[in-house]
Amino acid sequence: MKAYQLAARQDGAGSTVVTVSSPGKTVHIGPGTCTVIAGPCSVESRDDYLEIALLLKEIGVDMLRGGAFKPRTSPYSFAGLGEEGLDILAEARAVTGLPVVTEVVDPRDMERVCGCVDVIQIGSRNMQNFALLKEAGRSPLPVLLKRGLAATIEEWLLAAEYILDAGNPRVILCERGIRTFEEMTRNTLDIAAVALVKELSHLPVIVDPSHATGRRSLVAPAARAAIAAGADGLMVEVHQNPDQALSDGNQSLSPVLFANLYRDIRNLPAWLGEPGRE
Ligand code: PEP
Ligand code: MN
Repeated sequence: MKAYQLAARQDGAGSTVVTVSSPGKTVHIGPGTCTVIAGPCSVESRDDYLEIALLLKEIGVDMLRGGAFKPRTSPYSFAGLGEEGLDILAEARAVTGLPVVTEVVDPRDMERVCGCVDVIQIGSRNMQNFALLKEAGRSPLPVLLKRGLAATIEEWLLAAEYILDAGNPRVILCERGIRTFEEMTRNTLDIAAVALVKELSHLPVIVDPSHATGRRSLVAPAARAAIAAGADGLMVEVHQNPDQALSDGNQSLSPVLFANLYRDIRNLPAWLGEPGRE
């Protein structure tokens, strides 16, 4: 028996499709769906967030992202608007009708976060924060679990196991690059992990090409590669004015660049997005 028994793909059983229900829209994440999640790294202000949210809705995205609690390497960097950011996300959800995902970094914030968004994100730095994983496992919302920046695939699946074991069956895995000797890119996108995790687990897998590369010019090629490797969706950072962004501007796409990528993704050859392709 595998160490990650609940996350493991069972012989003969199909893949799990995670349903995200928000008041305005229901989104399915799993084989054949190619769910596109987009938004700025951080929620920076109400007006800017509502503006980009409406732009992204017009482009056609399935779900919005935006960080209110930001885990930053330096304590002097912008750490998000906190609760004010959550209120802005809730407003964007109401205005656009789109579901919203945001990161939770402290188990004490879980209830408040769950009241404002539709999917909880566990970030790379917290993939083995077991108290947080258990709290997410007890929460009523689906959980987007990012791969730890130096986590093996087995550790990642065991982190998912914590959430499943605590009673929450709605886990979405997100490959976001791992740390290697390479310094020209922020992380190294582990494209084989996408295909392998689809073999090992029934859970949906999406890719974040923004954190995986750290470079604007590489986001679209990495995104296309992710879909070709079998990813069930993408999470992409988009900012109205990437050079002014308070976090991760280097890897953020402008709305125009994102619209081009979105069109490419929707026009990928049909066999890449066929339901049941695994
Ligand atoms: C994010 O998606 O906002 C983020 C901080 O990513 P990661 O946890 O993958 O670094
Ligand atoms: Mn970011």
